[in-house]
Amino acid sequence: MKKRTALVTGGNRGIGLAMANKFAKEGDRVVILDLSAEPSEEASRVTEESGGAYFACDVAKQADAERAVREALETFGFVDVLLNNAGISRWRSFLDTTEEDIDAIFNVNVKGIYNVTRPIAGSMMAAKKGVILNTASMGGKWGQPLESAYCASKAAVIELTKIMAMEFGPYNVRANSLCPGIIKTNMSHDAPHADDFWLEKTPLGRLGRPDDVADVAYFLSTHEARYMTGQAVNVTGGMIMY
Ligand code: NDP
Repeated sequence: MKKRTALVTGGNRGIGLAMANKFAKEGDRVVILDLSAEPSEEASRVTEESGGAYFACDVAKQADAERAVREALETFGFVDVLLNNAGISRWRSFLDTTEEDIDAIFNVNVKGIYNVTRPIAGSMMAAKKGVILNTASMGGKWGQPLESAYCASKAAVIELTKIMAMEFGPYNVRANSLCPGIIKTNMSHDAPHADDFWLEKTPLGRLGRPDDVADVAYFLSTHEARYMTGQAVNVTGGMIMY
């Protein structure tokens, strides 16, 4: 079978890097788009070993995102799997959330998905194949005090994924969102709660690891998940069940 190209945004570390590692391990060529000018050591290794590449870009900026996607398409021809994973969070009370917080969070978490997907989805629809996975969050369904803008942005990701599924489905392009719970990365490290706060809500009795999410993402990209689209798939250790 022809080697697939998987493009992951925010793949320099955390969940995105685990996705990059998983897809590469399964034989895919991995392309990473990330804000950092230079790849992390592991991102550099995984892109090189899989035959992919690293492109620095800010997904929140349309021209920059389109430039990076164009370079990726010129280099590799086609993106089979798009993982819109880059995201940011800021812990603030509702009343303390500033206009700048709201703009920064929505520009990366929501607008970033439009910026990267627009130039890729057209070629997927023309080829009548392709898979899109958007990293949303449990917070997009549940809500979490001190994360109002983040949770609102992730609810938006869940909804825009459903629209992608409806608009792209007739062209055999599937789109699903992932809703991780508390996954140990830099982002969750910034949360103002001790691990026990989350653990007592988690039936499986441990917090998540980036590879817990990456494994589900990989499954959703495969033929085995061919009849799944428009879903918001929880990876929370049971913390939420709807
Ligand atoms: P990290 O903060 O560990 O990693 C985020 C990555 O995204 C970094 O590599 C970062 O780049 C990159 N990034 C940030 N902003 C931009 C941008 N404007 N353009 C391009 N790349 C950018 O976060 P996680 O791995 O934890 O999160 C990954 C996704 O999972 C996010 O969408 C997050 O909301 C979601 N999520 C995470 C959960 C968790 O508990 N960790 C729970 C639920 C959802 P750089 O290294 O240069 O800063």
